[in-house]
Amino acid sequence: MNLIIMGAPGSGKGTQAALICKAHNIPHISTGDILRKNIADGTELGKQAKAFMDAGKLVPDELVVALLKDRIEQADCKNGFLLDGFPRTKAQADALGKIVNIDVALNLETDLGKLADRMASRRVCPKCGYSTSASAAPDGKCKECGEALIIRDDDKREVVENRLKVYAENTAPLVDYYKAAGLLKNIDGMQAIDDVNKAIEAALK
Ligand code: AMP
Repeated sequence: MNLIIMGAPGSGKGTQAALICKAHNIPHISTGDILRKNIADGTELGKQAKAFMDAGKLVPDELVVALLKDRIEQADCKNGFLLDGFPRTKAQADALGKIVNIDVALNLETDLGKLADRMASRRVCPKCGYSTSASAAPDGKCKECGEALIIRDDDKREVVENRLKVYAENTAPLVDYYKAAGLLKNIDGMQAIDDVNKAIEAALK
């Protein structure tokens, strides 16, 4: 199954993506994670992407499409994959359609007004990628590996607002794009994590 999960920044996409990939045994391909790894590893791609990411802007399409194409062509994607954070523009969606067929585009519907607060309280583990909220981890430590949790640079308030604006302008129109293609499944993303997951599984049947 070749899947896309869409939703605003902070909508819980990453959390749901991990659950879907475990249940269906497919790789979770997050362009944001791949870009952050490139920055951490000091690669040329990372150097080019960093300034855009720190400002909450989109990394140019040609860079992201090339990295995505590379990733999808790897052997573990043979039986399907889940894309998280890609496509983010119509140009990326068009490019994707030329690389591979998509079976379902899931869309987590959320209340944009509440997401800025959710993102400002997000804490992530720099070592294993675990994501939680400040209130769920009062000791500031990762539940999975014990590392000290951090706030992503682009989860800082001033950047969050820009990310939500960029989402509304560039990415929200992709909902209509996949609706027109007959691939869209809308999911209420403001429910509890388990209930969102149940709704997704029902939509994939
Ligand atoms: P994410 O972890 O998906 O929220 O992505 C974090 C940041 O990485 C975004 O704010 C963008 O700067 C960049 N990014 C991730 N995926 C893409 C994409 N498909 N197109 C352009 N920029 C991206």
